Amino acid sequence: MNIVILGSPGVGKGTYAKILSEKFNIPRISVGDLFRKAMKNETELGRKIEDYVSRGDLVPDETTIELVKKRLQEDDCKNGFFLDGFPRTIAQAEAMERFKKISKVLNFVASEWIIMSRLGGRRTCRECGATYHVKEVPPKLEGICDRCGGKLYLRSDEAPQAIKNRLRVYLEKTKPVIGYFRKRKLLAIIDANYKFEEVDKVISQCEKHLQNLGEDSRRRRI
Ligand SMILES: [Zn+2]
Repeated sequence: MNIVILGSPGVGKGTYAKILSEKFNIPRISVGDLFRKAMKNETELGRKIEDYVSRGDLVPDETTIELVKKRLQEDDCKNGFFLDGFPRTIAQAEAMERFKKISKVLNFVASEWIIMSRLGGRRTCRECGATYHVKEVPPKLEGICDRCGGKLYLRSDEAPQAIKNRLRVYLEKTKPVIGYFRKRKLLAIIDANYKFEEVDKVISQCEKHLQNLGEDSRRRRI
């Protein structure tokens, strides 16, 4: 069950991928997390990535593909994965098909105003990476992480100008990827125009597509 998660920044796909990962007991691989880990370790690769990410630009294909390929070859991915944040370009999609068979692509969609309000209000813990939202999921104490007491901050790629840039880059570069998967009949559209409390309505749409997937492969075996 190799599932690709698509959707513009701020659509909530990270949250949905986490829930799905627990339900289906296969890992969620976030390319954003892979990037942040590399940056935190301050390797040469990490510093290179940081330059792109802080401007809201995409990290070059070659670097991203290498990072993802290595991660998907690890043991915990042998029964499948929910891959969040990759592929974002046609070149990445083509590269991925060379090293992993894709079972389904879940494309989360929401209106632009929902995306802007979600991203602008997000705060991240500097210590443990937990995320909050000033309106939807506020911490108990303003600016402080409930989990570890760390300080919350506005990620540089979630500042208004970076958000606008990310949405523009997303439209230019990632929309063709959606067309690419549609042609291959792998694409499922998930309506994510729901409030945080209505997360089940989004997850049940995903489950429907993933259940069919199981039936399809059983049928193929018979
Ligand atoms: Zn924390």
